[in-house]
Amino acid sequence: MTESRDPSTMTRRQLLRHTAWFGAAVGLAVAGGEVISHLAGAADTTAGQGSATVRFAQVSDSHIGFAGTANPDVTASFERAVDRINNLGYTPDFVIHTGDLTHLATPDQFDQVKQMLAGLNTPHVFTVPGEHDSVDDAGQKYRQVFGRGTRGEGWYSFDIAGVHVIALVNTLNMTKLGHLGRDQLDFVKKDVAPLSSDTPIIVFSHIPLFAMYPAWGWGTDDSVEALSYLRRFSSVTCLNGHVHQVFSKTEGNVTFFSGTTTAYPLPHPGDGPAPKPLTLPAGKLHDALGIREVAYTKGQRALALKERTLP
Ligand SMILES: [Zn+2]
Ligand SMILES: [Zn+2]
Repeated sequence: MTESRDPSTMTRRQLLRHTAWFGAAVGLAVAGGEVISHLAGAADTTAGQGSATVRFAQVSDSHIGFAGTANPDVTASFERAVDRINNLGYTPDFVIHTGDLTHLATPDQFDQVKQMLAGLNTPHVFTVPGEHDSVDDAGQKYRQVFGRGTRGEGWYSFDIAGVHVIALVNTLNMTKLGHLGRDQLDFVKKDVAPLSSDTPIIVFSHIPLFAMYPAWGWGTDDSVEALSYLRRFSSVTCLNGHVHQVFSKTEGNVTFFSGTTTAYPLPHPGDGPAPKPLTLPAGKLHDALGIREVAYTKGQRALALKERTLP
């Protein structure tokens, strides 16, 4: 890509022309339930604010509709998360919610979380589903609300300022571990085939794509094949939810980061018999909840992450 075609340095008119010319190669993007062809906001929001090429926030596992002692008011906690993102001091290029938006996938819960996400000060909100978002219908209600323009059972990819972003669904057709399935694996293979190996890759999924703790289902049974298509890339970062705690691991060229939750903590891997919600002492809950800031700077291999609690 030549300098004049880098969206971060283009004028709006150039960008529109570029978008039309670049056509299908930019892939699909889904923002607030609308399909767009390119994330045009990136150039405007990062200009003059440090050297970062792309800045976004990750929020996860809001479990809207959960009722229990581990968090008697998940809605209020998610409001804190939205406020935290809206007070970062800059406008993130996008916000990704990495799943378990709802606790029980009811129409009311989907409606509520969608309205709350609409309060985020960002040009684009992206989501991937958690297993709680498909408890009774293999994700149909989720896709009605959040899946417009996605492929297959809700996966998609998009490009922003030279970074290629892939959002995967590994919460359907599961046995114990997360599962991607043949169609989605073929999508990943085709999706990255035209990209040059120095394209930075970011992958979102709900369940970890690495074996964080398979005894509790914290892994994905066919992620090895998906990751094999990403092996040639110099910078690959996978961000997930589901485990309700911050965790990271590097395997070869891929770095994995599990994000925390805005609802309730879960035990550390293997700490106790099962991953059941933890009730913390009074006043401690919001130190265990949080959001994540992520920045990518062109030319760097690693993303910069900042974990923010919700005090
Ligand atoms: Zn969850
Ligand atoms: Zn989950």
